Amino acid sequence: MKIGFIEPVYKDSLTAFNRHIKAVFKKRRKYLPVWNNPDLGILTVAALVPGNLQIKYIHLLMDEIDYSERFDIIALGGMTGRADDIYSIAQRFKQKGNYIVMGGIHASVLPDEAKEYVDTVIVGEAEEIFPRFIEDYSNNRPKPYYYSKREVDISKSPIPRFDLIEAKYQNYPIQTTRGCPHNCNFCSTTRIYGKKYRHKQVEQVIEEIKFLKSLKANPFIIFVDDNMFVNKSFSYDLIEKLIPLDIKWQALTDASIGKDKELLNLMHKAGCKELFIGFESMTPGNIFNINEFHWKSRQVKNYQAAVKNIQDNGMRVFGAFILGFDKDTKEDFRSIEDFVIKNKILGQFAILTPLPGTELYDEFKKSGRILKNKSWKYYTFLDCVITHPNFTADKLEKEVSELWRVTYSQEHFARVLSRLIEAYKKTHQKIDQ
Ligand code: SF4
Repeated sequence: MKIGFIEPVYKDSLTAFNRHIKAVFKKRRKYLPVWNNPDLGILTVAALVPGNLQIKYIHLLMDEIDYSERFDIIALGGMTGRADDIYSIAQRFKQKGNYIVMGGIHASVLPDEAKEYVDTVIVGEAEEIFPRFIEDYSNNRPKPYYYSKREVDISKSPIPRFDLIEAKYQNYPIQTTRGCPHNCNFCSTTRIYGKKYRHKQVEQVIEEIKFLKSLKANPFIIFVDDNMFVNKSFSYDLIEKLIPLDIKWQALTDASIGKDKELLNLMHKAGCKELFIGFESMTPGNIFNINEFHWKSRQVKNYQAAVKNIQDNGMRVFGAFILGFDKDTKEDFRSIEDFVIKNKILGQFAILTPLPGTELYDEFKKSGRILKNKSWKYYTFLDCVITHPNFTADKLEKEVSELWRVTYSQEHFARVLSRLIEAYKKTHQKIDQ
């Protein structure tokens, strides 16, 4: 039996369909971040396939699809923004008699929609249900839906099939935890993985990294957890054991990490180069209700000190910001710009996007605020798919493009570099003393 796993990413790691962003990206191409890594979800699911079956991994950033190639099963999955393309790939393969299975975030939140295009939908985490699907398929009785009924124990997840990756990627993903307790209304993490924070065993993560390193020389690792350092004792234990591995890495987390100077210092020693932090907004009142107990809005006052502590420990900060909360005005966007410039950080600027499966989506759908003429392909986070009290879609797209224009420039990169040099001197002084 032969299974084709297809990763349907955009050909460009940053894609938008509106003229404002397109114009900026065209001029700023050499400065833009490149998110070029294989999909960990697919590599993990591939590891659940019995060893006697043949697997081919097709990553659309690197490979073309050959529709004449014969597979028994085509396995697809991906984010909402890719759903239109996933469905057309599914249909082309289906017409040729292949069996199509789809999982991942979009299929998990809209399984009935996905089922219109594929034969089987995997809903939720795959670890326990994908092997059941394979067994049923082998016995000629695959079901239309497989539901993961509980949060899986990721300490039992297999080592992802990094050996399937042939192409050269810039970054390599490793996951150590799933879930996030903060439940932000625009984020699908809590809906998919739950509020309960689960982690792998430290030794399990170390084995994954060692396996990856045995295949790729000096891989730059992205810890793709949604929020990596929520469990402090696990974090300390893991980071200490990363030190001897001599790796370079980036992690995704929230701003509260900035308070823990001891952990920051340890992370620097363990090879952390950059922290990707969801700041969202600089105006606490505009994000007051995005999660329970107003957790995120209460963090804003600490942002500047957090950035300073991270940078002083020799790591870069890459901030994620969202434009388009209901109370947002032009002034709020200038506050984001000022923060990025003054603190010499890099950033990513997105338009508030109600992803299906989130509370935000339910709320916007109920109030008729989702633009009906925008299909899933516009859910790029750079194209506006909502109505806003203060901006038209075109104006919001223009505002976002302005932030990308200002901060992805030679002038701003010089600022970021100067801060890095300053931090480098400081951290090396500490080592010399
Ligand atoms: S803190 Fe980050 S990962 Fe957690 S729910 Fe909010 S946006 Fe999602």
